[in-house]
Amino acid sequence: MSCGMNRNMTDKRLEWLEGIAHAAGITIIYKPLRPDLKGYYTHSKCSITVSSQLTTAHTVGTLAHELIHALHEHDGPQSDVVEARVDKLAARLLISPKEYAQAERLCGPHAGAIARELELPRWVVQAWQDQAQACTYDFARTSPEPRVLEFFADR
Ligand SMILES: [Zn+2]
Repeated sequence: MSCGMNRNMTDKRLEWLEGIAHAAGITIIYKPLRPDLKGYYTHSKCSITVSSQLTTAHTVGTLAHELIHALHEHDGPQSDVVEARVDKLAARLLISPKEYAQAERLCGPHAGAIARELELPRWVVQAWQDQAQACTYDFARTSPEPRVLEFFADR
């Protein structure tokens, strides 16, 4: 498989996300990007590009975010509302309720501390906290994409 060949880090979460991408026919490219750009999804090529200059935590967060775009077949820039939803879905993909509860017991409720404990970017934890405040079942019911939801089934 071609995805993951150029990343300079090893992380089980990356392998897992790359496995989902591979199964869905999405190519992942790691390469240097502008400093303000962490990654993007190109619908016409069905490919995710991730900056090769990110920390492991940011690579995991970026790949999850772009994977959600890809699984929703988002084409081009999305609204802030959609981006916020993508962040929440990415957070659900990356953090199980059990993992979150364990981290919160250990570190308290601060997003930054939990992010360090889970080795994830702070935005992922903030998005997790945002989605947890809403009713989880409403959240799941309003997601129109069974392809995305099936990945949550065993989480
Ligand atoms: Zn996005």
